[in-house]
Amino acid sequence: MSFDSRALPKRQGAFRLAVAILVGVGAAVAAPPGGGAVDAEALRRHTFFLGDDAVEGRAPGTPGAEKAARYIAGELERVGLKALGHNGSWLQDVPLHGTTPAEGTPLVVASECGSSTLRLGEDYLLFTGGVQTLIPRDVPLVFAGYGIVAPEFDYNDYQGLNVEGKVVVVLEGEPDADDPEYFAGPQPTVYSTAEAKQRIALSRGARGSLLVPSALEPPRDWVGLRREFAFEHLSLAYSLPRHLSARIRPAAAAALFCGAQWDLDAVHQMERDHTLRSFPLAAGVRFRGQFRERDFFASNVVALLPGASELRDTYVLVSAHYDHLGVGPPVAGDRIYNGVIDNAIGVAGTLEIARVLAARPAPPARSIVFLFPTAEEEGLLGSLYYLDHPLVPVHRTVANVNVDGLAHMATFADVVGVGADKSTLGDTLARVAARQGLEVSEIPPLARADPFAFSDQAAFAEVGVPALLVNEGLHWSQHTPQEALVRYAEWGQTRYHQPSDDLSQPLDFEATRQHVEVLADLVWEIANDSEPPRWHPGRPEALAQLRTRAEGR
Ligand SMILES: [Zn+2]
Repeated sequence: MSFDSRALPKRQGAFRLAVAILVGVGAAVAAPPGGGAVDAEALRRHTFFLGDDAVEGRAPGTPGAEKAARYIAGELERVGLKALGHNGSWLQDVPLHGTTPAEGTPLVVASECGSSTLRLGEDYLLFTGGVQTLIPRDVPLVFAGYGIVAPEFDYNDYQGLNVEGKVVVVLEGEPDADDPEYFAGPQPTVYSTAEAKQRIALSRGARGSLLVPSALEPPRDWVGLRREFAFEHLSLAYSLPRHLSARIRPAAAAALFCGAQWDLDAVHQMERDHTLRSFPLAAGVRFRGQFRERDFFASNVVALLPGASELRDTYVLVSAHYDHLGVGPPVAGDRIYNGVIDNAIGVAGTLEIARVLAARPAPPARSIVFLFPTAEEEGLLGSLYYLDHPLVPVHRTVANVNVDGLAHMATFADVVGVGADKSTLGDTLARVAARQGLEVSEIPPLARADPFAFSDQAAFAEVGVPALLVNEGLHWSQHTPQEALVRYAEWGQTRYHQPSDDLSQPLDFEATRQHVEVLADLVWEIANDSEPPRWHPGRPEALAQLRTRAEGR
């Protein structure tokens, strides 16, 4: 689920909501009535089981997660789906590697100003972990602006910079602009994310990257950040991170610039003056971390609703991750991060989609795969593993409908398609929405940079499978759009990835039932449409689709 706790766009707080109605072409077979409507009571039952303290927030590799996986498998069996996992089971084993750094692990910065020891938690937080991220001897630091290379904006912080084997220091955020044509103006782009900066630094041969605060970004709540980073760091056991990547606390960041041509204050002034430049630093860094590490198997849960037509060996894949953060730092004495909206309710909804579609009088034309990935919170790991080890051919998977979070505050009159602008799935959504008397709206100005990138749909799109995530819009019953926006932002600030995303929050399962009806209809529409979804011309994902097809994956 994607929320940026800082909520509103860069420094504008403007509220924009545009409504677009799209009319679909080539309407598919309409869904027959009956076949069992979505049941709000079933949604409650599933949500209350998966969101209960008894499953302890479903962190991968814990008894709670195993209990949740068994529950999901039991429900899939009960509604008559076919197991698709290993050896006819409902589970696909996912090999994971976990690392937990020792509290206070030192990161040493050495310069002509002397040596300063930064302490884990106090002065910095680790994005990556494990012995392979160690840097036993001093490695030079280089300052690389925002650490961005964006050819489409003719922007390159690495111009003329050699960072091979060094550690780059980069600012949070991205160039400040009001022009929507440049870095999307007030909206943050994916370039502002830590993940994108890490990937760019590594692609340039750097040994690691250190993120320091920007003068133009609101200060981050370090206590909140520390909590976010307090969980075991997971990676797929066969692709461990090989680089040090950390976030440096504002108070500790100045040490990195000691003895350099410009200090951090001067860099911040350059930011304000739009004269930012990259330059070598006079300091080096070494990292001798201590980690508790483990290898273990977690499980994806997978099932099939077979199709009945000549299209049955093509697949619509519905996904909903069932993992969440587990047990972590206490907040008001509560240590269980239940993840009720993220994503117990999404799993509940997907189980209901499976039940109502399996109960329809006739099977769908295409087959429908139901995938409940593990370890989404740790980087879409369950989906990435599934795509590396697909249980049905990826090149015959015509669409992914991902479910991450569902409406739970009020019934609504509009929906939002995250990714709808990328493929004809947007048209299919408009057709289904119109049939249910709903409008299709633009993504509200709340989501973090590129919300499409932050849940399992992104993994499927990456290999060329047209993918979509559908959220409710802001036209809620008994609310003005502004009131809806405020409640949404409040949820992001007070419950997202916190123990308070639990069963004590108000849950309107009538809103959830409405959302799931839209999704069930959407999946059915795609599964019965003789025309498979297509990427819009010029989309990079279309090339990925050709590659996947060529690889016969
Ligand atoms: Zn989520």
